[in-house]
Parts: sequence; structure tokens; C-alpha cells
Amino acid sequence: MWDWDAPPIAIRRIEVPNSGFMRGQPTNCYVIGNNPVVIVDPGSEPGIELIPQKLEEFGSPSIQSIFLTHAHPDHAIATPELRRQLNVPVMLHPENTPIMNEHIAWTDVDVKIDPGVPLEVDGLLFDLVMTPGHAPGHVALLERETKIMLAGDLVSGNGTIGVFPPNGNMIEYMDSLYRARDLKPSVLLPGHGPVIDDPSALFAHYIERRLSREEQIYDLVADGGASIADILPVLYPDLLPEYSFPAESTILAHLQKLEHDRRVRAPEDQKTGIWQPRA
Ligand SMILES: [Zn+2]
Repeated sequence: MWDWDAPPIAIRRIEVPNSGFMRGQPTNCYVIGNNPVVIVDPGSEPGIELIPQKLEEFGSPSIQSIFLTHAHPDHAIATPELRRQLNVPVMLHPENTPIMNEHIAWTDVDVKIDPGVPLEVDGLLFDLVMTPGHAPGHVALLERETKIMLAGDLVSGNGTIGVFPPNGNMIEYMDSLYRARDLKPSVLLPGHGPVIDDPSALFAHYIERRLSREEQIYDLVADGGASIADILPVLYPDLLPEYSFPAESTILAHLQKLEHDRRVRAPEDQKTGIWQPRA
């Protein structure tokens, strides 16, 4: 079992509160190394005050960079201000452009992450694992000796991960789950929720859940065609109105994967039209 009082490598967690996003779930910011350190995912606004305060408690190490697994606001909003205050470079994979344009300006990124170049900090070596799907250009970090994986939003310690088109992509997300599983990480440090001590069980559970959802949706389409509105109440019988956007988006993501796999045919308007089975 993971113990934050005795982690196997130099790594610390700062739980950065979220107000609007993630239904109040904090974002896990990770500080890797003792000195220097890399700050992974500084979170939303509260990170601007909280992270410098925690770094002081950690003995004011020098800061090598801020590394973003992806540019979603709950991981990235604190970044430009921390970059300015701490005077450190920001690293992000360039495929995040469509989501980051909404939150941080391109000029705030100093290093375009190249997955072929591992991240080295304080004697630790992290391979970069492309894990798109939840967000384009999503990158996980895999420590080479211990196989500890900083998973970003590939997985969550508290339930499932959203895959919302157009920036989310279920085909890529499933591929990322298989890719990460096959690397056999020893433990997963997710962007939200507690540490995952049994990655292989979690990946199996996630994959099984997605595939069974996919079959459920395929069966509804195969039975004479179906729109997202037809599928929604079957998959989510007691859905609260505030969750209709994520639920509809998830169904759309699954339908797009089924179309990619040539099992269904998309209507002109994917959001309102009737999806048909392929003969
Ligand atoms: Zn995210």
C-alpha cells in the first residue's frame, strides 16, 4: 500500500481545491524530486497561493519546471501566474492547443513536450507516455526504475473519466488504456482521488466497463436505429439534469468509436440524428 509518509521515490502530493470543476473534487498536484523539483499539474486558482506555500514547507527547493499532463482548467489554470511568480518554464504537449487556447495563452508554454525525450529531475527518470483520449496530447509520466505512473486524467481514484467530443476521443482513449496497461505500472498516481495500488485490476475494470457500455449502445442502435436521446434514458435511468451533458457526450464518444470500427453509420447531425447499424 502506498504511504505518503514513505514514498518509494521523492514525490509529494498537494491537493489543490476546485470550486466549479470536478464537482468539488481537488486536483492532485505532484511535486517530484527533492531539489530541484518539477511541479506536475498545479491545478486551478487556489494553486497560485497553495503551491508556493507548500514549496516553502518542503524547504524551498529550486524549481526546474511546471509539467502539464494536459491543459484542462482544473489542472492548468494556476500555471501562467505560477510561471510568472516562480520564473520557471512550462511544459505541455502541443496537441493541447484546442483546449489550452481557452485557458492559457500559447506564449505561456516554453517547452513543447516531445514524448521521445524523458523527463529527468533530481536523479529520477520519467518516460513520457502519450495517453490521449480524455484530452488531445495527454501525457502520463512513468518512472523508469519503480514503474510509478503519474496518470493525469487517464484514470481517476474516484470513478470514471470523461471522454467528451470533440476534444475527447473514445478510440484514442481505449488505445491509451491498453498502452498504459501493457507498460505494467506498479502504482498509479491519478489527477483526482487516492493512489491506485492495483493498476492491472483498475485497467481491467475500466476496459471492461467501456466495452460493455459500447455493446449496450450498439445493441440499441442495432435494434432499428437510435438517437442519443433514445439511448440516454436506457443507459442512465435516473440521470440528474446537470449530468445530461457528460452523459450525452459519453454516448456520442462511444457512437463515434462504433462508427470508426465500422459497426454503425452516423447521421448527418450526430447529436440529434438517428444512428443506424451497418449491414
Ligand atoms: Zn482533464
